[in-house]
Amino acid sequence: MGTGQGGDNEGGPATGGDSPASGPVATVVAIDDDAMTLLMISRTLAVAGMVCHTATDGVEGLRLIRELKPDLVLLDIVLVGEDGFGICREIRRTWSPEELPVVMVTGLDDLGSIHSAYQAGANDFLAKPLHWKHLSFRILHVLQASQSLRELRESLGTLRSILAVHPDSIFMVDREEQVTLVHSGSQRGESGHRPALGTLARLLPEDLAAQVRERCQQALGTPSEVLSLDFTHPFENEPRFCEARFVASAQDRVLVMVRDITQRKLFEQQIRHMAYHDVLTGLWNRHAFNSTLERLLAEIQRSEGAPLPLRAAILYLDLDNFKRVNDTLGHALGDDLLKVVAARVSEVLRPSDMLARAETGDGDSVARIGGDEFCLILGNISNPMNAGRVAQRILEVLRQPILLEGHELVVTPSIGIALIPQDGQDPDTLLKNADRAMYAAKEGGRNRFQFFDPSMSTRLLECFALEVGMRRGLAHGAFHVFFQPQIDARNHTVIGMEALLRWDDPEMGSISPTRFIPVAEETGLIVELGEFVFREALTFIQALLAEGLPSIRVAVNLSSVQMLDPQLLDRIEHCIALTGANPMNLEVEVTESVLLESSGQALNALRRMKDLGITLALDDFGTGFSSLSYLHHYPFDIIKIDQSFIQSLSSESQSRSLAAAIIAMGKSLGLEVMAEGVEHLDQANFLLDRGCHKAQGFLYGRPMSPGVFRAFYREQLARVT
Ligand code: C2E
Ligand code: CA
Ligand code: CA
Repeated sequence: MGTGQGGDNEGGPATGGDSPASGPVATVVAIDDDAMTLLMISRTLAVAGMVCHTATDGVEGLRLIRELKPDLVLLDIVLVGEDGFGICREIRRTWSPEELPVVMVTGLDDLGSIHSAYQAGANDFLAKPLHWKHLSFRILHVLQASQSLRELRESLGTLRSILAVHPDSIFMVDREEQVTLVHSGSQRGESGHRPALGTLARLLPEDLAAQVRERCQQALGTPSEVLSLDFTHPFENEPRFCEARFVASAQDRVLVMVRDITQRKLFEQQIRHMAYHDVLTGLWNRHAFNSTLERLLAEIQRSEGAPLPLRAAILYLDLDNFKRVNDTLGHALGDDLLKVVAARVSEVLRPSDMLARAETGDGDSVARIGGDEFCLILGNISNPMNAGRVAQRILEVLRQPILLEGHELVVTPSIGIALIPQDGQDPDTLLKNADRAMYAAKEGGRNRFQFFDPSMSTRLLECFALEVGMRRGLAHGAFHVFFQPQIDARNHTVIGMEALLRWDDPEMGSISPTRFIPVAEETGLIVELGEFVFREALTFIQALLAEGLPSIRVAVNLSSVQMLDPQLLDRIEHCIALTGANPMNLEVEVTESVLLESSGQALNALRRMKDLGITLALDDFGTGFSSLSYLHHYPFDIIKIDQSFIQSLSSESQSRSLAAAIIAMGKSLGLEVMAEGVEHLDQANFLLDRGCHKAQGFLYGRPMSPGVFRAFYREQLARVT
């Protein structure tokens, strides 16, 4: 048997056969026991550009197939020896129908043998006598079909492999919102039948279902577009971040690919944390510090012009002897030391450490900006002294030795403080100035702090000394109350007295209330001191009464810190009960600034005092806001014209008109008016002319001890009667 090629053109398909360069269209092995048929087949296929190899029996045919690996086998059923069905089965043992298509040629044009041919693994069949014109078409068609099948198998295989490793879960959502799982991202490689899971409404929380529904509808409306949706899903109470993509698939369904991006989100958070934090200590780094400072500066700028503009400070801290620790004990220990320092410094800014924080609050933060350099932002301080207190507290917490690997280490810091805005309005200037102050602290002997403006340090040191002294004084009876008479200037009779606190410190001597009262207010000591004054004042009133002297009122000054004390009324009532005094004999003096700083609470407290029968005086009137609204809204009985006006009555005409206006206004409101700081007769006369006869001042009497006051009072009474 041979190979037939070329020959007459009988009008078969000219599939490239006439261009020899392109090679044969296909190689075919034909097996038939009739040599004539084989010859015809060869010729016919050759015309269509195919190469045909022929065999007259199965054994020879199979040998050819193994040797040539043809594209197609044309196989007669009836053969000498093993029949075509057997040969076909033999072929199928090695090759699948799409790898090697077999077309069976049968003279037995009955359904039974056609069925058997397919059973044996044939791709198609041809009935004898063969229709030569159609043969090539038929064969090419089978070749094409198995080629397509091969490609389909391949892409299915590829798809399966892709799916097997695909991390997304894939769902199908239909028009009825039924969800089917196509592929589970968590169960790799699994395939097969996937049942419907349920409807969107049943599977998802309401708001998420609504979002998915919207995307599905959108996807169906725009078939070529891929839509996406990021969401969190509360899987078993452990929220997962997910990213879903939606694309319309055939048959009105939407393919939804869901990826769990929780891990990525965690990475992002980690990266963000790393970008803003110091790896060693977990504190902020310089970058984070700068951006926070910039934000704070902008906020401070915005607050200018507000009644209480925002004030802040930065502390620049450098460890004095860290280099020595590092050099002698090694870097690992040095690192551990820095961690302990970081923890202790952070602790000072914690809300629980009220000692240091005083009034600083939200927006405080610590950063490590260099090897052993730390920076603190105190985001909101009402008083620069609070920055000093925080620094003082840091010195204290670092004073405790640090135990590391058997070593007892003490690191001392030097701290520089720059105040915002006065010491700088941009991060660079502020850091530079705080750094300078830090160097000044080092030069000053280390283990200390220093304000950028050195006078602040002096002031704060004085504050500390006063605070310590006051605590000591309270315990050792160094405080006394003096009484300054209040006079009816028409007849010089004593109508009342103002209680004024005096402090004689054994070391510092006699200290003016104008110096120690502000510190007492800042430290809260004023609450205790104030109660002491009430007690002394009421005790003295009772003593005068007990001696048979006519009862007069005693005025006690109240500061805003006292006003904000929720127990103020209890304290006053306690003193009244303790001394047995009549509240009618008690007067309370507050300034406008007290009302401003504690508005709501002040009104409430003043009303309750009034209900008790206490007289209320508005002190230092004319210096503050001189707002008439205070007089309208608060239940005052008396206004005290500030001494600065009284003292300049003779020199300034403006003071004269102001004093006159206050007197007139007070009268029109039905209030008593008292002049304070009257030193000269002409001042007294001016006031009397304007109808103000209540006066207090050196002209009539200085603040005096109870004993001196008693004598003064008796003398006055004797002179009048
Ligand atoms: P203030 O309430 O205005 O008290 C009047 C101040 O004027 C007293 O000063 C008094 O000694 C002084 N003064 C009275 N007459 C004259 C005068 O004719 N000429 C001059 N130059 N001064 C006169 P002091 O005692 O030094 O008290 C100063 C401030 O300290 C008080 O001003 C008051 O705000 C505060 N203060 C005094 N004692 C207490 C207290 O017990 N509690 C509270 N919260 N503050 C007090
Ligand atoms: Ca007063
Ligand atoms: Ca006053």
